[in-house]
Amino acid sequence: MKKMGIECTFFDPDAVSDEEFKALIRPNTKLVFGETISNPGCEVFDIERFARLAHEAGIPLIVDNTFATPVHCRPIEWGADIVTHSTTKYMDGHGSCVGGVIVDSGNFDWMAHAEKFPGLCTPDESYHGLTYAKDFGKMAFIVKATAQLMRDFGCSQSPQDAYVLNIGLESLHLRMQRHAANAQQVAEWLSARPEVAWVNYSGLSSSKHHALHQKYLPQGGCGVMAFGLKGSREEAIKFMDALKLISIVTHVADAKSCVLHPASHTHRQLSEQQLREAGIAPDLIRLSVGIEDVADIIADLEQALQSLR
Ligand SMILES: *Cc1c(COP(=O)(O)O)cnc(C)c1O
Repeated sequence: MKKMGIECTFFDPDAVSDEEFKALIRPNTKLVFGETISNPGCEVFDIERFARLAHEAGIPLIVDNTFATPVHCRPIEWGADIVTHSTTKYMDGHGSCVGGVIVDSGNFDWMAHAEKFPGLCTPDESYHGLTYAKDFGKMAFIVKATAQLMRDFGCSQSPQDAYVLNIGLESLHLRMQRHAANAQQVAEWLSARPEVAWVNYSGLSSSKHHALHQKYLPQGGCGVMAFGLKGSREEAIKFMDALKLISIVTHVADAKSCVLHPASHTHRQLSEQQLREAGIAPDLIRLSVGIEDVADIIADLEQALQSLR
């Protein structure tokens, strides 16, 4: 987003103290952004805490809730102002169409911090000189997003893709239950394997995010977990190549189980140092557990682990 004139200050939500966080907020900071469950590290974000800190600084909290979905977490109830989802993932569920949604709570008071948000609080000459925060009240942000920004950027979903997405939404609640139940079993199974060095799945009682999981994801998280194998990068590649049911794909959070090694695929432009700063261990394998029979998923993992011997 640098090319669009937007800068970011990164923070580690687990390590940062309230004071350190406040010191990171610059005079021109517009928002705080976090993921309910991060991709690919699978860490759980303390939504309520960062909503409070954002509001103390007079800025909104935006939460990417793609992995939890509204079935398992509703960030607005914890204080988030705006929620985003990539519908490409669980909402469609079948890797059939690309899309995204913005959900605006309408709760953030833009006019109370008008100097920070001129796009919402001063007249828009391209739209009859209306001022979104004055003329649309609680609808201000979402009206600007649709009336002005969708018009200018052209990011409208095709009717066919909207149709496919709607079909996916009808079974989302059933699929999420199954994703979380399958992933819980797979995570427990992987953690007990001698070949596995570590597993990051917040549903595990050993996870450092388990308390946050119990608070924000009491009905289960999602199907995605991160883990590392003992040994070198070679073991990870050999293991993944040996999988038969589980496919190696960049896509994630799908009805079909899939796996990815970010350090050599999606994030290969980053150095080892940058990977670590982004919370991505070089040995991290992202496993996205699907809705197949969990016995079949575990059998596939088992034969692939055996191939390492
Ligand atoms: C994939 C993903 C995105 C980006 O979504 P696209 O639909 O691929 O543009 C954003 N956030 C999360 C958590 C994702 O997994």
